[in-house]
Amino acid sequence: MSGDSGDSDPRDELRTLAGRFRANLALRQRSGLAGVPAGRSARGGASVAQARDAVAALAVAGATEAAGAGAATVAVFAREDQPAALRPTGLAGLQLAREELGNCQRCKLAKGRTNLVFGGGNPEAHLVFVGEGPGADEDAQGEPFVGKAGQLLNKMIEAMGYQRQDVYICNVVKCRPPGNRNPEPDEIEACEPFLKKQLAALRPRVIVTLGKFAAQCLLRDDTPISRLRGNFRTYEGVQLMPTFHPAYLLRDPSKKKETWEDLKAVMAALRRLGLGPGGAEPAGAP
Ligand code: URA
Repeated sequence: MSGDSGDSDPRDELRTLAGRFRANLALRQRSGLAGVPAGRSARGGASVAQARDAVAALAVAGATEAAGAGAATVAVFAREDQPAALRPTGLAGLQLAREELGNCQRCKLAKGRTNLVFGGGNPEAHLVFVGEGPGADEDAQGEPFVGKAGQLLNKMIEAMGYQRQDVYICNVVKCRPPGNRNPEPDEIEACEPFLKKQLAALRPRVIVTLGKFAAQCLLRDDTPISRLRGNFRTYEGVQLMPTFHPAYLLRDPSKKKETWEDLKAVMAALRRLGLGPGGAEPAGAP
């Protein structure tokens, strides 16, 4: 995948890379994503409907790439060891991160999984939720947050005025820890680069971390979640709101009130950015 040819003329390699860069740029321009400051794409101030249009455009671009030389361009141009700024974003960036993860055997969780749970949702989402790791239902279906905690997360998302497909949902670890135990440090360490690649591809405006592992992992801060929650922090320049995990809320529903406060702060932050669902006022706490 590196495209390195060993003893070839460096000037030829440079010319080839320049050609690939131009092809990649043209592809991004056709997708409406190039020429916008700081790689922010055409999303600034866009409504959810506009974001959906962008996704549709990207899907078309993806199909075009897959059919022709564009796929090779994206895959070769954006190597795993390249700086984030040179990697594709949105759908193409997520696809690349998924390809790099492959049939992952990097940690001991691989042995016990039925399905690797990469994440899912809108590749152009302004809002991303990061959980801990798949449970039994997620492992069986290969989708994040589809069990009981996922049903509560859906309600939280809908109470914010979004649909689940408007946002993106992923986890710190992509494989189920046995017996739903906590992920261990070596497992988090092995998986974290892929979470970071997902977030770099998504370029969300706000990240909501669910529970202590996601917050502590992204913030490099081992403060208890009860103290982290409710206060915006910054992850790679993006506003990050730590809040409680929905599975914890199922065990202690009294914590829903604080969680709803955190989510309202997220909605206000998105509104300040000119974003948000833009639909009817949310119905209230889940
Ligand atoms: N809990 C998580 O943290 N993630 C899931 O995907 C499901 C349950």
